[in-house]
Amino acid sequence: MRIDLHTHSNASDGTLTPAELVRAAAEAGLDVVALTDHDTTSGWAEAIAATPSGLTLVPGAELSCRWYGADPPIALHMLAYLFDPANEPLATELTRVRLARETRAERMVQLLNADGIDVRWDDVHERAAGGTVGRPHLAQALIRLGLVNTVAEAFAPEWLGQRYRIPKQDMDVFNGLALILGAGGVPVFAHPRASRRGPIVPDSLIVELAARGLFGLEADHEDHTPEQRAQVRALAADLGLVVTGSSDFHGSNKTVRLGAFLTSPEVYERIAAAARGEGGPPRWKGPSFR
Ligand code: AMP
Ligand code: FE
Ligand code: FE
Ligand code: ZN
Repeated sequence: MRIDLHTHSNASDGTLTPAELVRAAAEAGLDVVALTDHDTTSGWAEAIAATPSGLTLVPGAELSCRWYGADPPIALHMLAYLFDPANEPLATELTRVRLARETRAERMVQLLNADGIDVRWDDVHERAAGGTVGRPHLAQALIRLGLVNTVAEAFAPEWLGQRYRIPKQDMDVFNGLALILGAGGVPVFAHPRASRRGPIVPDSLIVELAARGLFGLEADHEDHTPEQRAQVRALAADLGLVVTGSSDFHGSNKTVRLGAFLTSPEVYERIAAAARGEGGPPRWKGPSFR
């Protein structure tokens, strides 16, 4: 079984449509793929409708969270699987985060414009195609202007990595976790040790999150060194959390391929069982989990 539990479509900052993504997942030989766009479920319907037989789609999302226990607060990403997309409190918070991302991206465009860089907000917004806007969409605009050659280059400190970067209005991580659980979902902390992305949270926070219902930690991820993967495994074992491995595929916005990292069938089964409410409260019975 080949199981990849973290991918993005163009409903956020990936480059394949949800339908193209599930077809590419089948072609890559995956048996299970999770669609985890940033802060949105808008790709679910198309992905569900296009899922080829033989492939299981796990609907999910990657929530932009922040931990306010540090100064400055630390950004982190929480994967959520198999939650009810119509759950009011969660859907409302996701809408708030997406709208704040638009304001933020527009302000980043203004910063670029102030330096004479002719990025247009209408153009960026349009190409985000009604999905969640992020810095990769601004990166594509810089590529079109010939200012950088790749998305990775656009994330250098002199561009979107620092100079023109504005923080997102993320959700408090404790609130995010409670919202996921309240919507019947299964929460897994994405790339928790990825220090090359920025400051990482201390183990003590992960201990606290585990006590409040966190289900797993993503260990195998391209942004983790072998040492960091081992640290995540050890911490998960201590806390009774599952460990996942995933590509975090973004189409051509990143170089990583579908299935580059995988999750074991045992762990996937535990996530699916948790979503069905086995050993816990009743949960959402979604389209792929009847
Ligand atoms: P944002 O959420 O708008 O702050 O943008 C962050 C997103 O940019 C992440 O979800 C990644 O998809 C992407 N990203 C972050 N760092 C890099 C990088 N060095 N190269 C390419 N994409 C990146
Ligand atoms: Fe992304
Ligand atoms: Fe992430
Ligand atoms: Zn991701």
